[in-house]
Amino acid sequence: MLTVQFEYLWPPSFMHKPTLPWKILNVRIPERAAMKLDVDALRYLSKDDFRVLTAVEMGMRNHEIVPSELVDRIASLKHGGTYKVLKNLLKHKLLHHDSSKYDGYRLTYLGYDFLAIKTLVNRGVFAAVGRQIGVGKESDIFEVAKEDGTILAMKLHRLGRVSFRAVKSKRDYLKHRTSYNWLYLSRLAALKEFAFMKALEEHSFPVPTAVDCNRHCVIMSLVQGYPLVQVKQLQNPDIVFETIIGLVVRLAEHGLIHSDFNEFNIMIDDDESVTMIDFPQMVSVDHRNAQMYFDRDVECIFKFFKKRFNLIFEEQLDEVDGTEADADENGNGRPCFSSISKAAGFLDKKLAASGFTKKDQDDIDKCIEGGAEEDLGSEMMK
Ligand code: ADP
Ligand code: MG
Repeated sequence: MLTVQFEYLWPPSFMHKPTLPWKILNVRIPERAAMKLDVDALRYLSKDDFRVLTAVEMGMRNHEIVPSELVDRIASLKHGGTYKVLKNLLKHKLLHHDSSKYDGYRLTYLGYDFLAIKTLVNRGVFAAVGRQIGVGKESDIFEVAKEDGTILAMKLHRLGRVSFRAVKSKRDYLKHRTSYNWLYLSRLAALKEFAFMKALEEHSFPVPTAVDCNRHCVIMSLVQGYPLVQVKQLQNPDIVFETIIGLVVRLAEHGLIHSDFNEFNIMIDDDESVTMIDFPQMVSVDHRNAQMYFDRDVECIFKFFKKRFNLIFEEQLDEVDGTEADADENGNGRPCFSSISKAAGFLDKKLAASGFTKKDQDDIDKCIEGGAEEDLGSEMMK
C-alpha cells in the first residue's frame, strides 16, 4: 500500500485568494469538459498494481495496444497474477482493454496521471491533490499541496484530446515511429513548457516558477490571480496594457513568440501585476510563420483591451489629429515585428540545455500541424 495519503483538500484554510470578486466576471471558460481525477483510488493501489501499470507504459513505447502476454512478461510478478491485477486496473479506469486485433491494453490518461503523480509524490514534490482550478484547451490544472501546506499548481497535459486527430492524419509518419502517440506528445508538451518556464524566469519574465516535471505533468507555483478574461474592471487598464504589449516585444527581443498570447493566458493579481502562462506552443522568431504569430498575439491584446476596457489606440487618435506614427510601429500603433532587434538562438540553446531538443520541437510541430479529419481524442478518454 502507498504510505502517502491523497486527500481532497478543498477548502484549505491557509489558502489566500485575491480580494477582487466584485471586479471579476463570474464566467466559466467552457473550452471542454474537465476530466475527472479521482485520486482516491491511488490509496488502494498496491506495488503490484503500479508494476503492471508501468509495464503497460513501457510496452506502449512500441505498441499502440500492448499484448497481454507482453505486459505479463515485462511486469514479471513473482507469483504470477498479472491478469488479476489487470482486471483491477481496468476497474479503476487506469487501463483500456482492446481485443479488436489481439488481447491487449493501453494506458488511459488517468493511468498516466497516476504514474506521474506517484513519481512526483515519491520525490517529495507534493503530498496531496486538491481541487481542479483550470480546464485548458489541452490540459487540466489542479492545486496540489506540499507537506508544509504550500499550494502549487499541477498541469496535466492532454495533448491527444484535441490534436491526436492531427497525429493520426499523419499516418505515414507514424509508421516509422509507433511511439508517436498522445502519451509521447503530452510528455513532450510538458517538457517544453517546463523548459520554457525555467528559461523565461531566468530572464526575469513574469511567469510561474517551474518546480518539477514528470511525464505529461508540470508542477509550478500557483498564480494568485485571475485570467484576464474574467477581469471586469482594472484601476489602470492603460498601464496593464502597456505591460502586456511590452512583454510581447521583450519576448521577441529574446527570440521568442508566445503564439497563444491572449486574455486566457494572462493572469492578473490584486495589484494588477501580470503573469503569463501556457507555453507549449511558443515558437522561435526564426519560425517561418513568426511574423503572423507575433501580429496575432499583438492583435488579440489590442482587440481585448479595446472591447473590455474601452482603450483608445493611436490608430483612432491619428484619425482625429493626423499625427505620424513612430518608426518602430506599424502605423496603427502596433509594435512592428521587423523593427525589433531579436536575439535569435536563445530558444534552441536554452531548450537544449534543459533536455528539450530541436528534434523534440520538430516532432511536436509535425504532429500538431496538418489536417484534422479524424478525432481520436475522445477515444483516448475511454
Ligand atoms: P491550456 O494550455 O490547456 O490552455 P493553461 O496553462 O492556459 O492551459 O491553464 C488553463 C487555466 O488554468 C488558466 O486559464 C488558469 O486559469 C489556470 N492556471 C494555469 N496555470 C496556473 C497557475 N500556475 N496558477 C493558477 N492558475 C493556473
Ligand atoms: Mg491556456
